[in-house]
Amino acid sequence: MTFSPQEFKQQFPLFSQAENRDLVYLDNAATTQKPGCVIDAIRDFYLHSNANTHRSSHRLARRATDMVERVRAASACFLGAQSPREIIFTRGATEGLNLLANSLCRGLVAGDEIVLSTAEHHANLVPWQMLAEQHGLVLRFVPDANGVPQIDRIAEVLSPRTKIVSVTGGSNALGFRTDLATLRATLRATLSQRDLRWVVDGSQLAAHDVVDVAAIGCDFFVCSAHKFYGPTGIGLVYGREALLRDLPPWQGGGEMITSVDLLASDYADLPHRFEAGTSSLAAIAGLGACIEFLGKQDRRAMAQHEQTLLAYLHDRLSKVPELELLSNPRNNLGIASFVHPRCAAIDIAQWLDGRDIAVRVGHHCAQPLLHAAGHTATVRASLVAYNSREDVDRLIAGIEELLQQLDDTAEPQPSAAGSSESAATEAYPWQPDDLSKLDLDALCNQKNWQDRYRTIMSWAKVISRKDQIRTTEHLVQGCESSAWLVHRQEAGVHRFAIDSDSRIVKGLGALLLSQIDGVSEGAVAPSELHQIFDELGLSQQLSESRGNGFRALVQRAFDLMDA
Ligand code: PMP
Repeated sequence: MTFSPQEFKQQFPLFSQAENRDLVYLDNAATTQKPGCVIDAIRDFYLHSNANTHRSSHRLARRATDMVERVRAASACFLGAQSPREIIFTRGATEGLNLLANSLCRGLVAGDEIVLSTAEHHANLVPWQMLAEQHGLVLRFVPDANGVPQIDRIAEVLSPRTKIVSVTGGSNALGFRTDLATLRATLRATLSQRDLRWVVDGSQLAAHDVVDVAAIGCDFFVCSAHKFYGPTGIGLVYGREALLRDLPPWQGGGEMITSVDLLASDYADLPHRFEAGTSSLAAIAGLGACIEFLGKQDRRAMAQHEQTLLAYLHDRLSKVPELELLSNPRNNLGIASFVHPRCAAIDIAQWLDGRDIAVRVGHHCAQPLLHAAGHTATVRASLVAYNSREDVDRLIAGIEELLQQLDDTAEPQPSAAGSSESAATEAYPWQPDDLSKLDLDALCNQKNWQDRYRTIMSWAKVISRKDQIRTTEHLVQGCESSAWLVHRQEAGVHRFAIDSDSRIVKGLGALLLSQIDGVSEGAVAPSELHQIFDELGLSQQLSESRGNGFRALVQRAFDLMDA
């Protein structure tokens, strides 16, 4: 059966909004768009069934309760669980992993070991770190090659003290799948003790695969509905019933008890003892519609289309001069991750955003993996079944256009003033750049954001490359890409120099320095700089992290002046 991404896409109302007609959405690993039936189900819940579950005997409460338990049963089928009692609703995968970390570690003793991998999302790393600290547990990691776990070598880190193995089903940063069949075979063959628990973070799997926890063979499986066309605010934890029965609850509160005394309580039966408080009821309704929606699709044909498209995406990217691809299309969950030596990842993403192409940039909440691969940030394009060859073509055209532009405006060479052989003194191996031509009034008078953005990018050209200040000491924390700032006092005025691997950060740095370089003590206050930033509309147009980056530069500049 052939699959039509165009027909599939028609079921997603966001794409038919006038403002989104040209949108190329390639940020699906962060969250997918929602089909109309999911949006309708959330609305319908509030229109027809809104009441809290369980605690009341009225008609609406019964309807809401029935809906929740129906969706639980559907979720059990969706994941291949044996019973709805094996399904716990959480706010998302992060909460699910925190639940498991807290409940599973409760009975462990100092020296017990947890095996994780370098490819974990922070959500499957930080909770275990926190519990390890609390209980004196030891974290061990599957051997890896440049960050990619070598699952066939996991036996090297298993020991009689291993109590938990928690690994991702696939990397959200580079896309590679974990070899769960090998993992299953090794865990079965190697371990004699039976008190080992195996958790799979399946967050990236369900959009692409029909999940079957029985076939995987894990004890626990965690995912978030928003990654597979469902709503945000709802996640699933699957746990083997026999194991869940013995597991202590994590959070306490209403709904998870049968009786409460002043000093002790009895907990409810499975699965409610793991669901303290009011659940995300409307989101559960949306999840139900999503599972029904996926049940009607030809999942094999969808997966085939995604694989073909992913191969095409990698092929096209591999032909872009100098571009370094960190991902591989084989055994991959729809993700291409790349960097370019002449352009910071953040500048690529910002440029693509200007062409209405949504990708993600950064460490993708997988810092250990990216560091092991030798990077701090990549551009990630992630696709699902509604993406098409046209989307890929638009992405490639956008990147090529950017690179062409870079060729036309080659990076400024180290200026005479900035070079170490220049007039720089021994004491100060850098000279400030000449910012005299930067005209803030002209920038403010520009009518639209696009013109202002172009001007700020052009201001980056006055900032020369200064290898001598690119050191950890001068690195400004809080910027999405690397930025270095130095300061000295000269004849009663403050002098600064900045450098960055990102053109937009250089441009913002030039804006900042145009106001503070060469001024005397107290002549300008941080609030004035934030005001300029706001008045230029930068806070609305730049991502929050860019705004934070600018604030971090301002903060560092004033700290240096005060020092
Ligand atoms: N694990 C992986 C592999 C993920 O990709 C994500 C989300 N990016 C999470 C965990 C956390 O999911 P959520 O933010 O929905 O809790």
